[in-house]
Amino acid sequence: MIRKREIHLILDGYARDGITIATMGSHTALQILKGARDEGFKSLVICKRGTEEVYQQFGVADELLIIENYEQFMEKKFLEKLIERNVILIPHGSFVEYLSPKRIENELLVPMLGNRMVLEWESDREKEREWMEHADLRLPKEFKDPEDIDRLVMVKFPGAKGGKGYFLAGNPEEFERKLKKSGLRDKDRFTIQEFVIGTRFYPHYFYSPLKNRLELLSMDIRYESNVDGLSRLPHVSQDGTPEPSFVVTGNIPVVARESLLNPILKMGQSVVKASQELFSPGLIGPFCIETICTEDLEFVVFEISARIVAGTNLYINGSPYSQLLYQEPMSTGRRISREIKDARREDSLDSVIY
Ligand code: ATP
Repeated sequence: MIRKREIHLILDGYARDGITIATMGSHTALQILKGARDEGFKSLVICKRGTEEVYQQFGVADELLIIENYEQFMEKKFLEKLIERNVILIPHGSFVEYLSPKRIENELLVPMLGNRMVLEWESDREKEREWMEHADLRLPKEFKDPEDIDRLVMVKFPGAKGGKGYFLAGNPEEFERKLKKSGLRDKDRFTIQEFVIGTRFYPHYFYSPLKNRLELLSMDIRYESNVDGLSRLPHVSQDGTPEPSFVVTGNIPVVARESLLNPILKMGQSVVKASQELFSPGLIGPFCIETICTEDLEFVVFEISARIVAGTNLYINGSPYSQLLYQEPMSTGRRISREIKDARREDSLDSVIY
């Protein structure tokens, strides 16, 4: 595990007025880079060869570095190149997936926004559940023994990209039949979770350690294939229904009814408080809680994403909520750079960069 002392030593050597905000060209890079520029930072995008065109086209990065493969990102020579440019890295979903949480924790010796310990807590299902329980959130019931399945459940596998390969079952027989069909046998490796019916909300939060303030910046609903397409074909559910899958294909903007904002803010605050108690200094910057609101207007939480999520791409110019907080277009990407700028001004970069 990289010690924060090592990172802070590198940070101390940085030219304060030469800081470059950098990220990998994918996921939410466009708004991160635009936000950096809007806040007066230099911006740098790192692209795997073949993915650079989008970043050239939109021109949001001052500099573009091309790597041949993700391995190269971790090479000493490449990391030195980043440090020479006074780079602060901004992690996002693809960044974490391509470089791997373990390698980011142990090898990525470049200043990065946020607490690296969070990666371990969000990528390990058991730890994530402990975190959510500690935050007193309502979670979907889990079934340890398939024999106990007494309602609709979702069977989740680790590493099932975008939920591909998940299946639904309503009883133990259906579970066994579908498990056999899936070809998977290792019972320890899946989670059997109550399938919660309701409206999904994915609120995007930002926790500022400088202001000790939690901000609700925006919200989305993920559009998922094929499950969202199936609802257009009610007649196929008569017989031969295709197994629903949950591969994210897009994001839809949403606002919650105003009376739900209070519980949404409370959930965010509990998640931050629990993170501070479990892995100090806890969450820093952007995160998202993946929820389903039931007909009793209760939120059931099935996941925490402890970084910027792709649903924020809807709001490069701000959202109805960010407009209440800021008198200027404030995306999550821009909010990240604002925090770094404020920290630089207060000479407390080491409270947001690890
Ligand atoms: P990751 O972020 O790890 O890729 P994910 O965000 O895709 O995972 P999953 O937990 O894999 O989240 O769930 C994928 C989708 O399945 C969700 O977006 C949601 O539509 C649906 N889903 C997940 N858990 C439940 C549940 N308990 N009840 C109902 N729907 C669920």
